[in-house]
Amino acid sequence: PETDKGWNLDNSYARLPESLYAETDPVPVTAPKLIVLNAPLATALGLNAEALSGGEGAEILAGNRLPGGATPIAQAYAGHQFGHFTMLGDGRAVLLGEQITQGRERIDIQLKGSGRTPYSRGGDGRAALGPMLREYIISEAMHGLGIPTTRSLAVAATGEPVFRETALPGAVLTRTAASHLRVGTFQYAAWKGGEETLRALADYALERHYPEADTQGNRYLTLLREVCGRQASLIAKWQLVGFIHGVMNTDNMTISGETIDYGPCAFMDTYDPRTVFSSIDQRGRYAYGNQPEIAAWNLARLAEALLPLLHENEDTAVTMAEEAIAEYMERYNRNWLAGMRSKLGLFGEEEGDEALAEDLLELMHSHRADYTNTFRSLTLNQTEGTALFDSDEYAKWQARWEARLNGQQENREASRDLMRRSNPAVIPRNHNVEEALEAAVERDDLTVMERLLEALSDPYAYISGQDRYAEPPAPSSCAYRTYC
Ligand code: AMP
Ligand code: MG
Ligand code: MG
Repeated sequence: PETDKGWNLDNSYARLPESLYAETDPVPVTAPKLIVLNAPLATALGLNAEALSGGEGAEILAGNRLPGGATPIAQAYAGHQFGHFTMLGDGRAVLLGEQITQGRERIDIQLKGSGRTPYSRGGDGRAALGPMLREYIISEAMHGLGIPTTRSLAVAATGEPVFRETALPGAVLTRTAASHLRVGTFQYAAWKGGEETLRALADYALERHYPEADTQGNRYLTLLREVCGRQASLIAKWQLVGFIHGVMNTDNMTISGETIDYGPCAFMDTYDPRTVFSSIDQRGRYAYGNQPEIAAWNLARLAEALLPLLHENEDTAVTMAEEAIAEYMERYNRNWLAGMRSKLGLFGEEEGDEALAEDLLELMHSHRADYTNTFRSLTLNQTEGTALFDSDEYAKWQARWEARLNGQQENREASRDLMRRSNPAVIPRNHNVEEALEAAVERDDLTVMERLLEALSDPYAYISGQDRYAEPPAPSSCAYRTYC
């Protein structure tokens, strides 16, 4: 029986008003084959990793067979894509249900690339192996970095080609998430569902993600402020590690505060706030330096959707919404500064800390320094041999930093420890990710990816054997590009 394999699925989302989803089965594929299974995650979910890695597991993870208790649906949502409002929905994914873990957590189990749905529009409902492995690597790297994220349970090859510019091997990713509720889900409910549906969705989100929140007063304002708080924390974490999401459309922003949708994302190498990797982001809307403001813009769209629930008087509702967004910005700034203090080994708070951090970034920018490695070198106290570290401006900055460090009670050892915990030694660098994908997709060699995943699972370990992952990319004539 399925219970031997640990499946314990429910689908609370499918009890919400019908307009929010469509019952949809995954479309079977020709030749399911498991490529990678996240055994520790499977175990944490209460699933039997050994059973999942067998033939029947591959059938489930490719969508050919449903685990017991599954209620497959495609979720409806809308969203602003590059600022333009559109009807969307799961066009190539189905939610099998929520796995209830032994700790009574409720985790969405979603198959991505599982075939056409009522929301597919012109798309084929499928995904290619390379991008699904890429999502697997980067989402697991984010988890290793301690950043809230959807995770990847498995990638299964389908044995079928998908046609993009060329024919590529197809695959299905099993994604897990605190939920797949998005800002766009609320936009859809406000637009199509009517107030009852919107209210049901908001109550559901509060109960599922903010059970501790005080809902005695204005519970929908509470929801908005809580989401703003989680995003203020999340986006600060992105900025602090140099993560560029690449496609911060409102459908790609969660209500839970997890990072979602690893399409064109990438980590910044050389520090430059204008960095953009995505081939479709022609105008740099989603550049690294814009992310905090874009999140505010997206949260304003959430607030707009919630307006009818915030207050019967629209002006009052708008004022509440504006205050919540302003509060997001303040909380983001506080979180970022707190994170920067940690990256520099600073305890306590002093007036000049923000300028100290900003001035270092300014120097990194003008000397074209690698973002991650600058902090890594500061942590290891290996500050020579780069244009930045050998400059006079850096010497001046370093004197200010030293003075600040000397002025605090905590000793250098404590600062160094704090820096090690705050500055990753390794990140998923684009050339390493590409190398792993090339080996896996072109040569059926998964060992390169496995070694990379191993290093990324503990990025703060500072293990000398993993120094190769800290190498910046070789200088290249063309900029790195990502695709959706
Ligand atoms: P994304 O850019 O990944 O956020 O996706 C935007 C929308 O396009 C979502 O509604 C997706 O479900 C849909 N979509 C992306 N790729 C496909 C595809 N191959 N077939 C059908 N729908 C797709
Ligand atoms: Mg998306
Ligand atoms: Mg995507």
